[in-house]
Amino acid sequence: MDIRAQVSMVFHLDKCVGCHTCSVACKNIWTDRRGTEHMWWNNVETKPGTGFPTLWEDQEKYKGGWVKKGKKLTLRLQGRVRTLTNIFHNPNLPTVDEYFEPWTYRYDDLFNSPEGHDQPTARPVSQVTNRPVDIVSGPNWDDDLGGSAIYARNDPNLKSLTDEERAQLRKLERIAFFYVPRICNHCLNPACVAACPAGVAQPGAIYKRGEDGIVLINPEKCRGWRMCVSACPYKKSYYNWATGKSEKCILCYPRLESGHAPACFHVCVGRIRYLGILLYDASRIKETASVDDAELVEAHRAIIQDPNDPEVIKAAKANGVSDNMISTAQRSPIYKFVKEWRLALPLTPQFRTLPMLFYVPPLLPVLAAVKDGHYDIAGVADEELRPLLGSLDKLRVPLRYMASLFAAGNVGIVEQVYRKLIAVRIFMRAQRVKDMPDAEMQQILAQANTTPEEVRAIHHLTAKPTFEQRFVIPPLNREMAVEATVDPYQHAHEAGFSFRKVIKRR
Ligand code: SF4
Ligand code: SF4
Repeated sequence: MDIRAQVSMVFHLDKCVGCHTCSVACKNIWTDRRGTEHMWWNNVETKPGTGFPTLWEDQEKYKGGWVKKGKKLTLRLQGRVRTLTNIFHNPNLPTVDEYFEPWTYRYDDLFNSPEGHDQPTARPVSQVTNRPVDIVSGPNWDDDLGGSAIYARNDPNLKSLTDEERAQLRKLERIAFFYVPRICNHCLNPACVAACPAGVAQPGAIYKRGEDGIVLINPEKCRGWRMCVSACPYKKSYYNWATGKSEKCILCYPRLESGHAPACFHVCVGRIRYLGILLYDASRIKETASVDDAELVEAHRAIIQDPNDPEVIKAAKANGVSDNMISTAQRSPIYKFVKEWRLALPLTPQFRTLPMLFYVPPLLPVLAAVKDGHYDIAGVADEELRPLLGSLDKLRVPLRYMASLFAAGNVGIVEQVYRKLIAVRIFMRAQRVKDMPDAEMQQILAQANTTPEEVRAIHHLTAKPTFEQRFVIPPLNREMAVEATVDPYQHAHEAGFSFRKVIKRR
């Protein structure tokens, strides 16, 4: 066992209201500079939809992530030889149209226009050409299915659906949508790191840091070859045209190191975000990323280790993981959602980067109802829910769509999640209105493979967790932050860490 610690995250999608407060907080702190106009380290997209940059999930187009060839795992982008031949012209980058043409407004017109019959307006001006521009796309252009004929109907996940299921979704597309906020997943098998040609001559241009697994770019070593931009299947590494360096989400590590949650987590209006430590077995990364599609989620869960297991604790300590880090992992809300309750799933695991941001799939769009042409937020009545537990194929949004997003096509995994989410809802309602015989309740819980204690714990952490229960941040990092100003690894060396600074090419 090679036990390491990783800062991990859960986003509970039923709670996201699509307000974009997270995106704006991140933009204001980190990417409000020249050269970063097109960067949204945090973005929120509507599903079904094509996302940002448009069609990012289509790896035939962008060549991101890993592919399994027989027993071998290779980057979809290219091998070392093609990296060298493409080094001065990387053909697999999103274009400005696929991001969007950044714009600002001519605010001076509001103050300095001559007197006239009409109110002056601030015209949008392209930040690329500095000329007036008609805005035709943006990072949240397909919000709430605006222009769904262009966006929702071209969602790459629809390819896995039958004609009947596609028609079912199309009929619902005005109502059956949900939001997916996305940041860098700080993956265990990061394609961005593996693809970096500077990593050969100058290791550390992009690296996964030893103490907590955050994936970072060192601007002093980055040469701007942009292979990380192409290789990341989530398109969460960006190129700064002004500095000639790549940039990406840093999970607000200066905030984490001083005990604060990342900005997009802290401001989240829906309180959908959770953060904590997971312990994992790094010796099994390659094996985990190489299993068949249908087994990816299960293998991903298996690589995460029980932080209370004495063997795991011993191996973690032997690797230099601090006591504080281990006790933080033992209180992790992420461990509960991902491993104990098996409710949170990785986004598009078929790209095989082993993302460490997990999502609880939303219940509302699969259950929501329309009455008299209006969206009924109460959704289906609870008595209609009970039979659904037995036949999930009658849910409003085809489960195959959810399986394409969260389980590499394995519908059984998503079914288990939905059974439990529906059971939580039925149980908590019955507790309050006391309208269900005990025997029937026991049957429902058994069908969902859960218990009253587990349901209450899920309900608590979903509906009314405290700030400290949502964000369990290791206090030790505050001390490390002071030392990191001199040498980020000094603390690790002194403590006898055996971590490699950089995850090398596999
Ligand atoms: S999501 Fe982040 S860590 Fe994963 S491949 Fe993309 S940039 Fe790298
Ligand atoms: S701030 Fe929270 S609720 Fe609002 S869009 Fe972002 S993730 Fe969703």
